[in-house]
Amino acid sequence: MGTKVLKPKVIFVLGPPGSGKGTQCVRLASEFNYVHLSAGELLRQEKSKPDSKYRKLIDTYMKEGKLVPVAISCGLLKKAMFESQRDKFLIDGFPRNKDNVDGWNKDVAGYVDLQFVLFFDCPLEICIKRCLKRGAETGRDDDNEESLRKRIKTYISESSPIIQHYNMLKLVHAVDASKEPDDVYKDVKNLMLKYNPKSCYFILFQF
Ligand code: AMP
Repeated sequence: MGTKVLKPKVIFVLGPPGSGKGTQCVRLASEFNYVHLSAGELLRQEKSKPDSKYRKLIDTYMKEGKLVPVAISCGLLKKAMFESQRDKFLIDGFPRNKDNVDGWNKDVAGYVDLQFVLFFDCPLEICIKRCLKRGAETGRDDDNEESLRKRIKTYISESSPIIQHYNMLKLVHAVDASKEPDDVYKDVKNLMLKYNPKSCYFILFQF
């Protein structure tokens, strides 16, 4: 009889730009003790390093709304997972095209337990409005009309098929992300509780 090795748990968090992935992940990570890793945020951090060889490439891809090669995004994710020394990860904004899925399957999938895919389902008109508001408030340079049009196009042509792919594998749980953040959180939290039940001791203690 072999020894059962417990693999790190991973939840992929997907949805269009502006669907609220980042906002919800911050709350989920703190309540359920997951590490929140946003592929977009890791790329923005890499882009801001003066000595990074990927600075220019990431900047161009982001402004064009294109998805950077998986060697970069998956490399940054792997490094962040390893360095965190933790075992539960919310991976936000990855995988969002076939290149991402192939790179992940080749390098990481075998070493982790993919719990499910959390899909933030939100009409694109609402997402666009939210991103433009965020752009005006934060100055994020890919939240302008032109970059957004390209990001949405990329989402429809490259990311939607990935969500369908995981849906066929019965791994997708969708939440209605058009609601107010607190209401979305209630739905997401209920879903998370199914996968991370509080221990019996905790339940007894509640009585
Ligand atoms: P986000 O912060 O998730 O809206 O991502 C911002 C930008 O980062 C995207 O438009 C892409 O250019 C890039 N990006 C984010 N996630 C990925 C990914 N998984 N693979 C490649 N590029 C990505």
